Amino acid sequence: MRWSFTIARVAGIEIKIHATFFLILLLGAIQWGGPNGLMGSFFGILLMALLFFCVVLHELGHSLVAKYFGLPVSEIVLLPIGGVSRMEKNPQKPLHELLLSISGPLVNVIIAGVLVAAAGASGTLSSLNAKGLVSGQPLSPSPSVLLGWLLAANVTLALFNLVPAFPMDGGRALRAILWMFVGFTKATRIASAFGQLLAFAFGLYAVLSGHFLLALIALFIYLGAGQEWTEERARTVLTTFKLGDAYNKHALTISPGDQVSEVVHFLLTSYQPDFAVMQGSSLLGVVTREDVLKTLVTETEDVYVTGIMRREVPQFQASMHLDEVRRAMMENGARVAAVYEGEKYLGLISQDDLNEAVLIATFMKEQERRRQAQSQPE
Ligand code: ZN
Repeated sequence: MRWSFTIARVAGIEIKIHATFFLILLLGAIQWGGPNGLMGSFFGILLMALLFFCVVLHELGHSLVAKYFGLPVSEIVLLPIGGVSRMEKNPQKPLHELLLSISGPLVNVIIAGVLVAAAGASGTLSSLNAKGLVSGQPLSPSPSVLLGWLLAANVTLALFNLVPAFPMDGGRALRAILWMFVGFTKATRIASAFGQLLAFAFGLYAVLSGHFLLALIALFIYLGAGQEWTEERARTVLTTFKLGDAYNKHALTISPGDQVSEVVHFLLTSYQPDFAVMQGSSLLGVVTREDVLKTLVTETEDVYVTGIMRREVPQFQASMHLDEVRRAMMENGARVAAVYEGEKYLGLISQDDLNEAVLIATFMKEQERRRQAQSQPE
């Protein structure tokens, strides 16, 4: 992810902080510094830092369980809204997914337990001042306020993450339980729909009662819940196809001696948006429609294509599954990539081609399902 940098490495997992995370520290400093001066600012920063330390532990909980099940985790990124663990593979068994999804919230429950024990041992349990925290009265920095605040934060983290809707851990846990009975795809569909329904009801309540921040959270959950189903549908259809099935085999190519005017002619007379610049049978670079339009704004048509082509083009083997290719392209933000068979260049594949493949594959799958339903009347 751009604008994030590594702060630590635990068990081979990189822990990264996104630059916007510092806004949260600033917010803590302002919130606590206002009524309490400089000491309050430091206290606010300390609270936010500790809160995010708990978020890191939550994510590490997920990551270590994932590693235990043989699912590599490359990094944890801390955003102002929380943490994200980037996993390279998804769990293959419902029990694994269930344990994986609840391990994060469980960490917060354990932290909360430790905090209660610490408060009990130090005799500050009764002075945790939960009422003060809830009512939002200005509090002054003290160890018991710190304990109480962290306790409330961890309980909130555990409860919020267990809401049974994607993208929350609770949504995954719900899917895992359903998965045991109805299979992965159907479980994802049901959990998605349930999450959206829940978010909708929650959003309606929030709007009617005038809690607009809650309404915003509900909207975020609503979109996340739907996204999971769309992603899953795309993923399942894409795993059935290989890159060799989807690239454009009849694409027009250009040579290094061609000028931009030649590409403009191709753009006007075909639907093709990207052009491979070929020297014999080897690929030199790619010229996209965007590049051409940009050139036309500032320069004339008699520029050579080699002057505007992209030389850095990601390369993939034709034997790769489309879902792997799509993920790799999304990760490095590439719109177009080159397809190879061993050393031999075959053609180009673009994001649009992949979206098209999803559309066609979904349609074919649906047709197949209908045919099966017709041939086996229940
Ligand atoms: Zn989590």
